[in-house]
Amino acid sequence: RAKESGRNTFAIYKAEMQAVSDARLEMEKALHHATEFKLFELYYQPQTNHKNELIGAEALIRWKDAKRGFISPAEFIPVAEEIGLIVEIGHWVLNQALSQVAIWLKEGKWHPSWRMSINVSPIQFQQAGFLPMLKEQLSKHKVPTSCVDLEITENMLLNDLSSSLEKMHAIKGMGVHLSIDDFGTGYSSLKYLKSLPIDRLKIDQSFVRDLLTDKSDEAIVHAVIAMAKALHISVLAEGVETLAHFERLCEVNCFYYQGYYFGRPVPPSEFEVAFIQGSNQLKTPL
Ligand code: C2E
Ligand code: MG
Ligand code: MG
Ligand code: MG
Repeated sequence: RAKESGRNTFAIYKAEMQAVSDARLEMEKALHHATEFKLFELYYQPQTNHKNELIGAEALIRWKDAKRGFISPAEFIPVAEEIGLIVEIGHWVLNQALSQVAIWLKEGKWHPSWRMSINVSPIQFQQAGFLPMLKEQLSKHKVPTSCVDLEITENMLLNDLSSSLEKMHAIKGMGVHLSIDDFGTGYSSLKYLKSLPIDRLKIDQSFVRDLLTDKSDEAIVHAVIAMAKALHISVLAEGVETLAHFERLCEVNCFYYQGYYFGRPVPPSEFEVAFIQGSNQLKTPL
């Protein structure tokens, strides 16, 4: 009997493993297809200051698969990274986001002080061709470098620190801004932070969520803000979902925000209606 049940368990295990790898293969196939035929979209989420004025937007990729509907980037980006497709996808994202800024600039719908934040995967960033590609894209779309912010993660520094640093300095030298995304969740290289040419830390939403109830989250947020201030780096809080979050962040001197409280990621036409139209900044002469 024991032998029997052991065999059954193994059979079930094998079937489950098979199902997992089938699903994975199907996802890879669908991703290849979506990349080839550019079946992605970019949504934009507002970034604001303490006066609830727009300071920019983050471009977030969306993939609606014919069979499964919307698939979260948190699910498919890691797969795209593993199979190398992220390089092509990242190229598409940059092209799309810059072309959107160019259109908005031309139509007078984008204040030159606003920044378009674009996520860059460590794998994409580490490509030898990344810098030339970035330059080519900027000149193709004629977008001022000061309107662009690249979001990178701490983990990027794990591989080949010196070449990453060199690249970051080159990007900064072009006038493009650099932010560290999901700050606090990765390989926190406090030692390197002071030598990194970055403009902004984005405090990960996991620290903001329970800011009002969790004393250690509150302490971490305090510490990040104090450290950033000492290093002359600005801080933006992610995942600001409530008025209470916003008020507490103000109290601890965090003045830049992104989150559902201010607005969800939306397609460009909706972004215009909800966040650009009626913006005071576009009405005041530069
Ligand atoms: P991220 O770069 O940290 O982006 C912020 C994520 O938090 C987005 O999820 C956004 O929709 C979500 N978010 C914003 N405000 C709130 C809030 O108040 N509460 C909560 N619970 N969530 C909020 P999304 O769009 O699903 O993206 C997930 C992750 O996928 C991103 O995290 C980023 O790491 C990756 N990703 C998205 N688009 C791209 C892309 O174009 N390229 C690359 N390489 N990665 C991307
Ligand atoms: Mg991001
Ligand atoms: Mg983040
Ligand atoms: Mg993230």
